[in-house]
Amino acid sequence: MTKLLLEKSKMGRNCANLPFYSDDRKNDPLSFLPAGFIRNEKLNLPEVSELILVRHFTELAKKNFSIDSGFYPLGSCTMKYNPKINETVSRLDGLAKLHPFQPQEQVQGAMKLMFILSEYLKEISGFKAITLQPAAGAHGELTGLLMIKKHFEKIGDKKRLKVLVPDTAHGTNPATASMCNFNVVELKSNDRGQVDIDSLKANLDETVAAIMLTNPNTLGIFEENIKTISKMVHDVGGLLYYDGANLNAIMGIARPGDMGFDVCHLNLHKTFSTPHGGGGPGSGVVCCNELLEPFLPVPILSKDSNGKFSWNYDRKDSIGKIKAYYGNFGMFVRALAYIMANGKEGLEQVSKDAILNANYIKEHLKSDYEVPYDIECMHEFVASGKKQKKQGVNTLAIAKRLLDYGVHAPTIYFPLVVSEAIMIEPTETESKEELDNFIDIMKKIAQEAMIDPGLVNGAPYTTPVTRVDEVSAARYLNLCWSSNCNL
Ligand SMILES: *Cc1c(COP(=O)(O)O)cnc(C)c1O
Repeated sequence: MTKLLLEKSKMGRNCANLPFYSDDRKNDPLSFLPAGFIRNEKLNLPEVSELILVRHFTELAKKNFSIDSGFYPLGSCTMKYNPKINETVSRLDGLAKLHPFQPQEQVQGAMKLMFILSEYLKEISGFKAITLQPAAGAHGELTGLLMIKKHFEKIGDKKRLKVLVPDTAHGTNPATASMCNFNVVELKSNDRGQVDIDSLKANLDETVAAIMLTNPNTLGIFEENIKTISKMVHDVGGLLYYDGANLNAIMGIARPGDMGFDVCHLNLHKTFSTPHGGGGPGSGVVCCNELLEPFLPVPILSKDSNGKFSWNYDRKDSIGKIKAYYGNFGMFVRALAYIMANGKEGLEQVSKDAILNANYIKEHLKSDYEVPYDIECMHEFVASGKKQKKQGVNTLAIAKRLLDYGVHAPTIYFPLVVSEAIMIEPTETESKEELDNFIDIMKKIAQEAMIDPGLVNGAPYTTPVTRVDEVSAARYLNLCWSSNCNL
């Protein structure tokens, strides 16, 4: 068990020499604070040397699993390798040290970078207009639905209270629709894992504001009837929202704008190779057509005839600001580096590889695990642990057992339409050897479930913490350290 830093503490050791101010009240930073806010007793902080400090945090860091240390088949999350060149360029002084309040004349280069990125993303998604402001996919959904809401307000249509969401949608879709005060209506999937046209028809009327579609959906299946769906929704005056978080399924092959959608978000921190997980900065840019363009958040980036860039706040129908400043700029640098390094053909190849890898694993695993919707998938597919459950091994145990073999657990029990769901997204960056290794491990676990269920049910055995009580951990979360805490 790793010792706490405080347990390594020895009185008098330290790794920083701070000036001692108490004789010199003039320069004492504390003299600016009201007396009531000043702590009198000493804080109980660890006293350690620099070397002990470095070793402590290195030891902790080594316990982390990351995409740089192993395979990460986490469905719908696109945990792919992020080329290090993206990190290098995003840290260049001229980009990393800018301040959002600098005068526009001084930051024309940064604005040009955002402009070029915007043009590429509009081309990739097939839309006319864009905002880079939203900080995540769900935040992009909020932006898009607020724009849709404002559109109906503008044309004085007060009946549009409903948002249709298929039962295979990402959980953020219905959550966003309720946050925007819409009534969420769930659409059933058909036996091919796609929107059931009869269920759609039954719910279409002049109260529909929008349909939110993830395409390919969370089963990794592309909606074959997408053109019909978009015509049906438009025919009753509703709009179409495209959840483009996982655009690596279709980049360079198909475009949401061409499928008839009105607005979409793209997750730069998935498809466009900027790191994510752990709540780090993200970017959920929103692209839209001419109908919704007036409602985009302010400011909009404009370029005049002399090639000078400026922020345009003069937009009376805008939903307003959705985030401080202009979005997470560092993500824009990484995404642009990624797009430019790949080029048009490269991005298309990315999608083809993502699709090939997912289908390759699906075909190899379907003799060992049930695959309820066994049709050609896009960037991911959903297997089921039903067969193993009959042996007394549930999907959670399979996911935990994967950890013992050095693989991150896949997304499990989602989407809800598949019982004992195991959602696998290998991404395009993994080699055939890595995919084969994963397939072997999954087959081995299926065998273990048959001959020794107890072994799988007791997993994991090799991780820093073994099976934790996840319900209690969530319900009685304790993030405070105290010297009498029981670890
Ligand atoms: C990840 C994801 C989202 C949400 O994106 P966040 O950046 O996590 O808010 C929405 N829809 C789909 C399909 C996703 O995969």
